[in-house]
Amino acid sequence: MTQTNESNTTNGLLNWQFDNQFIQRLPADAETGNFRRQVLGACFSYVTPRKATSPTLMAYSAEMSEELGLNDEDCHSDLFKQVFVGNQQLEGMQPHAQCYGGHQFGNWAGQLGDGRAINLGEVIGESGQRWSLQLKGSGETPYSRTADGLAVLRSSVREFLCSEAMYHLGVPTTRALSLITTGDDVIRDMFYDGRPQSEPGAVVCRVAPSFLRLGSYEIFSARGDSETLKTLVDYTIDTFYPHLGAPSKQSYLDWFREICERTADMVVDWMRVGFVHGVFNTDNTSVLGLTIDYGPYGWIDDYDPNWTPNTTDATGKRYRFGAQPQIAQWNLLQMANAIYPLIDDAEALRNILNDYVTVYTDKWQQMRADKLGLAEFKPADEALHQDLNRVMQLTETDMTLFYRHLADVNVTDKNKTDDELLSPLMVAFYSPDALSQADKKDIANWVRDYLKRVEEEGISDEKRKTKMNAVNPKYVLRNYLSQLAIDKAEQGDPSLINELMEVMRRPYDEQPQYESYAAKRPDWARNKPGCSMLSCSS
Ligand code: AMP
Ligand code: MG
Repeated sequence: MTQTNESNTTNGLLNWQFDNQFIQRLPADAETGNFRRQVLGACFSYVTPRKATSPTLMAYSAEMSEELGLNDEDCHSDLFKQVFVGNQQLEGMQPHAQCYGGHQFGNWAGQLGDGRAINLGEVIGESGQRWSLQLKGSGETPYSRTADGLAVLRSSVREFLCSEAMYHLGVPTTRALSLITTGDDVIRDMFYDGRPQSEPGAVVCRVAPSFLRLGSYEIFSARGDSETLKTLVDYTIDTFYPHLGAPSKQSYLDWFREICERTADMVVDWMRVGFVHGVFNTDNTSVLGLTIDYGPYGWIDDYDPNWTPNTTDATGKRYRFGAQPQIAQWNLLQMANAIYPLIDDAEALRNILNDYVTVYTDKWQQMRADKLGLAEFKPADEALHQDLNRVMQLTETDMTLFYRHLADVNVTDKNKTDDELLSPLMVAFYSPDALSQADKKDIANWVRDYLKRVEEEGISDEKRKTKMNAVNPKYVLRNYLSQLAIDKAEQGDPSLINELMEVMRRPYDEQPQYESYAAKRPDWARNKPGCSMLSCSS
């Protein structure tokens, strides 16, 4: 997108050229009325966003707007606010909601679709990347089922902040351009306990090359509609996987293999930074390997592989931190079933799924080696890694702080006393005073084993620290930080949203002025709703 610099009066938005491939190449729902229904033989339905009473810009992403050819003035314009709350459409926009299905909590849920997301169209960014723009929370669509098509400010702040934080952390993700309050209230029963409350409504403009999910393919397969399935698969490969060539059994298999690889990369990154998706259903699994649908997600504070942030998942813990790699494979199995009609070779698909385990394990082991500043994972390191997993759970240990400060321990420290050796790590423990002598000895012995391994590697402490700090973030979007930003935003003050955006722009750098945002979760946030427990109500 080229933006003319001739005057500041031309809004960059007016230069956008839409190239709506999704609409042009895929079958549309012939019905254009906005009422809830099963939509057959179509990938999307045309629908117009609902009008908001009094939009207020809360925040926008400088990086995303720049990529889209917009400057700060454009983002503060009335046009920007009206367009990205859904009140006005630019020339070339063709608002529509996508049809998809999905497996939720392990069960086939039938048609889901964009119940509160409305896609506006596609533009090409400064980098040459295709970007699809989508409003989340802009009113009902044919896919709204029993809900209202709206989003509340608290969930919108979380989606907006986390999308951009993940991007800066180097995790594949959908992005966010803007966060705008609507001026209209939304009724939500946050904990499903019969106490509905009125909350401020908001709209986030999400941005991604595509919002297609595994459930986008499952729906056509479940309905026995192989024709639409094939049209959608061919479009996907041609547009987003062009290197795989023309449609054929082989290109479909190659495509599936690449989806598995991208999904593995994404999950490895989640495990690296301590992100828990919370509702990793097939309708929330991107076909491009992007983190998508930020709902009841959470960040691991104290390292606990069994932790799930989602209150709806509290009993089964299906989507707990440590289960994410297995859930990814389960989701990919559903995808294999969905595309089977086009391939008709169960064994070939099964082989790729089995390979996912090796592919994931290799990437995961390399990631674990990276986090410890080691060049590679050696089979003999398994005990060291497993033991780390154990000692991090002896007492509540902040995962982010532990890895970050492990980089400060030097090889020559190994002859120190336990207390001296552990002193740089004490900041990572939630109750350092309650640590027993035996636990301290256990942890110190692990550190000594680790330092022995580092010594074998022959890397200097300084180099190791640089390597470790490039993969172990100093700052993550801790749940309580988002909640503090939400509390202020609900009073009309977006300052903390913007400050957190600023911090999360450089999550691997020391930023002394923002040291407090690197601190472990304060005690008041331990069991507070929004900080450790999130509901799906959004
Ligand atoms: P999620 O759990 O957010 O991934 O949503 C699952 C399905 O419910 C998707 O089809 C969503 O579009 C839909 N959905 C979630 N919240 C709402 C809402 N407030 N109004 C309409 N549809 C919704
Ligand atoms: Mg979803």
